[in-house]
Amino acid sequence: MLADIRYWEGKASKEGFAIPHFNVWNAEMLMGVLDAAEELRAPVIISFGTGFVGNTSFEDFCWMMVSMAKKATIPVITHWDHGRSLEIVQNAYEHGMNSVMRDASANPLEENIRLTKEVVDYFHPRGVPVEAELGHVGNETVYEEALAEYRYTDPSEANEFVERTGCDSLAVAIGNVHGVYSSEPKIDFGVLERVRDSVNVPLVLHGASGIGDDDIRTAISLGIAKINIHTELCQAAMDAVRAHADEPFLSLEREVRSAVKRRAAEKIVLFGDDGKAE
Ligand SMILES: [Zn+2]
Repeated sequence: MLADIRYWEGKASKEGFAIPHFNVWNAEMLMGVLDAAEELRAPVIISFGTGFVGNTSFEDFCWMMVSMAKKATIPVITHWDHGRSLEIVQNAYEHGMNSVMRDASANPLEENIRLTKEVVDYFHPRGVPVEAELGHVGNETVYEEALAEYRYTDPSEANEFVERTGCDSLAVAIGNVHGVYSSEPKIDFGVLERVRDSVNVPLVLHGASGIGDDDIRTAISLGIAKINIHTELCQAAMDAVRAHADEPFLSLEREVRSAVKRRAAEKIVLFGDDGKAE
């Protein structure tokens, strides 16, 4: 069934688990994730974003996302990840996404506030929640270089940012990056703790693929209520492709779906989200 992200992030915050956010941009990923969520009775976020439009037509695939979310026996949120403009998130909403992220975090603080508030002002009257980002989670492939110029979330700005934008959840930059970590992730839990103490909205961890299980548990204990996974689903899919490359395409695709399901299930259990569906 379609679900409200605010309810699930709030519940996760209170009860000390995190709801998983999986980027899905083809049928195998979508079905694999929902297979895992159904089996584990786990509420889940399925998400699309601009980075995937070169692979899959969102305006068509969205209806498969929405249809499967509605048919699911567990709560499912349909989400747009890293919306770079009002127009992009409007389009996502018009195509069935019931939650959006407006990411203006590459901009200076005042501009980030203005652009985020613009989206909140548009969506709140329509009952749609908005995630925002403060600090900047980068895309670097050389992790040490990314850290050298990394823009951590500034705990002293967090409360003002949340108050002035009205955002419903806040993505933090605490040493996390998107993609594959080229060396051991260094998560700054001190920053996370100070942000948690200064705002009253659920916190979101992007770039969580490749962050160790212990660090994930610590992050959840310090207020992370939503965790984004994409790269590890791709890695699981690629492992399946390599292992079954000689098989017919029909069976290869089923193996990819199973591999995505297994990896999603591991994350659901790690985040404490299993069994939480009502
Ligand atoms: Zn992200």
